Amino acid sequence: MTDNITGKVIVITGASSGMGEATARDLAAKGAKVALGARRVERLEAIVSDIKDAGGEAVAVATDVTKCEDVQKLVDTAKEAFGRVDVIFNNAGLMPLSPMESLKIDEWDQMVDVNVKGTLYGIAAALPVFKEQKSGHVINVSSVYGHKAVATGAVYCGTKFAVRAISEGLRQEVKDYNVRVTVISPGAVDTELTSHISEPELGDQVRGFVKDIAVPASTMADMVAFAVSQPENVDVNEILFRPTVQP
Ligand code: NDP
Repeated sequence: MTDNITGKVIVITGASSGMGEATARDLAAKGAKVALGARRVERLEAIVSDIKDAGGEAVAVATDVTKCEDVQKLVDTAKEAFGRVDVIFNNAGLMPLSPMESLKIDEWDQMVDVNVKGTLYGIAAALPVFKEQKSGHVINVSSVYGHKAVATGAVYCGTKFAVRAISEGLRQEVKDYNVRVTVISPGAVDTELTSHISEPELGDQVRGFVKDIAVPASTMADMVAFAVSQPENVDVNEILFRPTVQP
């Protein structure tokens, strides 16, 4: 039993691997009811099955966050299954780094669609529910790269700066009906994120850097649990964390 987590309904996008999966498993173990969205449904179902075997409550919904209707269905399913929605954790993201001169326009589109529009669709699906309940919590995932722009990360950083701007603007609008907004900005975390870098040399370099210093995905679960477990009149607005040795 953990105060202010037990019984809460938490919708998680990008729950099939990495930090979304770790957060789903950890918060379910702490007594939250979790609704998991991602495209790799077989992975979601395996996680749901583990959570249920351990006595927890979970549902899985095939969700492509670039499709507004999929994200709506994820939130609707959580509400139908558990009666309410307390938290939306907009975690799904991609980081195909590349120099801009490579003109990987498809990857730019993907990053904008998943990292920015996917987050917006999560907000759009949850906000009416939160407004009606007069309570809720939006948790968005930015990055250390949402605080500083770097070469080969111009577009990725742009999407993560956008997530922070959207979060702060949203916070100012929804505080009056008791909705909390938290943005969490990780540094290097050991997940599958770097596997999508299509430039071979850059991919090896980034994977080498991350492998040497990364903290486990459960670190994010600890941060989410911290933000969610605060008393309802405390909104943890921003968390920025990184491996101690990361520049
Ligand atoms: P992973 O690659 O392990 O997880 C990414 C998740 O996003 C997967 O579950 C994937 O599911 C999901 N996803 C990707 N595209 C879509 C889509 N179109 N629709 C629905 N889900 C999608 O990486 P992380 O756990 O590291 O990433 C989580 C978040 O953390 C991201 O926003 C990332 O930018 C951010 N981040 C990560 C850092 C790190 O060092 N790892 C550092 C800073 C920020 P599926 O493919 O099944 O759809």
